[in-house]
Amino acid sequence: CGIVGYVGSGSTKGVDVVVEGLRRLEYRGYDSAGVAVADRGGVRVRKRAGKLANLQAALSEDPLPASGTAMGHTRWATHGAPTDPNAHPHIDCAGRLAVVHNGIIENFAALRAELEAQGHQLTSQTDTEAVAHLLEDAWEASGHDLAEAMRRVCRRLDGAFTLVAVHAEAPDVVVGARRNSPLVVGRGEGENFLASDVAAFIEHTRNAVELGQDQVVTITADAVTVTDFAGQPAPTRDYHVDWDI
Ligand code: GLU
Repeated sequence: CGIVGYVGSGSTKGVDVVVEGLRRLEYRGYDSAGVAVADRGGVRVRKRAGKLANLQAALSEDPLPASGTAMGHTRWATHGAPTDPNAHPHIDCAGRLAVVHNGIIENFAALRAELEAQGHQLTSQTDTEAVAHLLEDAWEASGHDLAEAMRRVCRRLDGAFTLVAVHAEAPDVVVGARRNSPLVVGRGEGENFLASDVAAFIEHTRNAVELGQDQVVTITADAVTVTDFAGQPAPTRDYHVDWDI
């Protein structure tokens, strides 16, 4: 399983970078794959059970718009069978935000029941989909700040997770979070990366940032900002990847 996020200034290659990154994470194992792009029109998702070739076939049949903001996921199912609807990314009711997740949300059943009681309609069997709907509410409650929305949601989650999210109304930003699950940042020139493993971005940059536990990271094309789940600036460590993969 693996996650890749990408933001590039004026870039149109988001989907290509993300799919290639997922290919480099294939060694981790997976049963489904998906990708999303964000622009002011909305978030758009393609996802398929099975190998990356299935996703690539879906993308050539029905291409996503060229975008400089994209994220992708390979899934190793823990909750819900490996089907197209259970593949990630998962979206909110309005189709304005998308999220991918590796790990397990232990308290998803209670969160899902609470969301459904509030009128959210969930369409998959995954633990992850609850996070999309929590983010939808937190986006409003935080005054349309995706990093703050992510922090609010993470404070409610039990379990181990890497999460990455995009929002149509913040199309120049990709936000990630981690607890007991891997996530690293790649610093490029006018582009930045998030991934489960440096292998996903090493052909683009060898400048990486190690995140600590319980941190939320925001990448834009030019900046990387890291806080803890409470919103305090958090320590990180820059390093150079000098080994070959
Ligand atoms: N628990 C999530 C699911 O089953 C994510 C699994 C993963 O780590 O890929 O969809």
